[in-house]
Amino acid sequence: ALDSPLFKGLPGDIDVSFEFFPPKTDKMGETLWQSVETLKPLGPRFASVTYGAGGSTRERTHEQVVRIQQEAGIPAAAHLTCVGATREEVNAVARHYWDEGIRHIVALRGDSPEGRYTPHPGGYANAVELIAGLKEVADFEISVAAYPEVHPDSPDAQSDIDNLKAKFDAGATRAITQFFFNTKCFFEFRDRAAAAGIGGEIVPGVMPVLSFAAVQRMSGLCGTAIPAWMEGLFDGLDERPEARQLVSATIAAELCRRLYAGGVRQFHFYTLNRAELSYAICHMLGMRPKENAA
Ligand code: FAD
Repeated sequence: ALDSPLFKGLPGDIDVSFEFFPPKTDKMGETLWQSVETLKPLGPRFASVTYGAGGSTRERTHEQVVRIQQEAGIPAAAHLTCVGATREEVNAVARHYWDEGIRHIVALRGDSPEGRYTPHPGGYANAVELIAGLKEVADFEISVAAYPEVHPDSPDAQSDIDNLKAKFDAGATRAITQFFFNTKCFFEFRDRAAAAGIGGEIVPGVMPVLSFAAVQRMSGLCGTAIPAWMEGLFDGLDERPEARQLVSATIAAELCRRLYAGGVRQFHFYTLNRAELSYAICHMLGMRPKENAA
């Protein structure tokens, strides 16, 4: 383990990408932009911006995606969902991106704001249909979602893998996983995907914990297990943000170290629009600012 770049601090042989969400206020916008500027010198291969439930952030997502690519010079990816829109409306959003020079879409089904997912009449029913539709609009690079701990709507683990295979067959080039804390689970998932004939990239989505309560809430919704040891590590730190951040960095670095030791060379960070934890973990993975990006 001590041989990993996490401990040597050597220039890494890894690729990273960063995910942001569209800010609601000017102040949040400033925080986002500072984070983009902090992470940019690491030379991410792309940065993506999420799409709010039901398309509620359509304009804000668009604005940030274009800004990240045009002003920061980072190849940007726009998340896009099927929720609450007809096929024509979704296609129009995608075409607009293409016209602005955005070539990468993270294609998702999304979730219905009122609970159980129901497709919009006249809309795309799921991610597979969306990918096929996007490929007709233009030759986008497409990333999709994957679930090492199985998506809550999936009848079983095999159907979930079959669905992922269908997403690659429809034109995806990469899957980004839901966040997880159990590396064994990720490796088993990767093996099952390979056994199903999936040859495309499966990139772990790494969530540095900013707020343990928030992560507990999100885990409940998306089916990610929180290990008991982790609960123990955050116990008593609610009022101690600095200590909590050090603990978070250690947990995420250890997760990445294990993934690296298992052959992972691509990482996707859920930054939650904060740069420091993601930056620190990338640093431990051996990444250093690239001169031409600074
Ligand atoms: P799909 O791949 O369509 O599948 C959803 C579930 O249905 C799976 O369990 C699948 O196995 C099952 N299924 C699909 N089709 C069939 C079928 N024909 N028969 C049987 N089962 C089927 N949400 C947002 O709203 N905005 C975002 O920006 C966003 N970004 C995300 C980024 C990442 C990296 C991840 C991992 C998730 C993101 N999400 C986002 C959440 C995502 O929208 C939800 O997890 C949603 O519930 C599923 O989307 P999907 O694209 O995986 O759906």
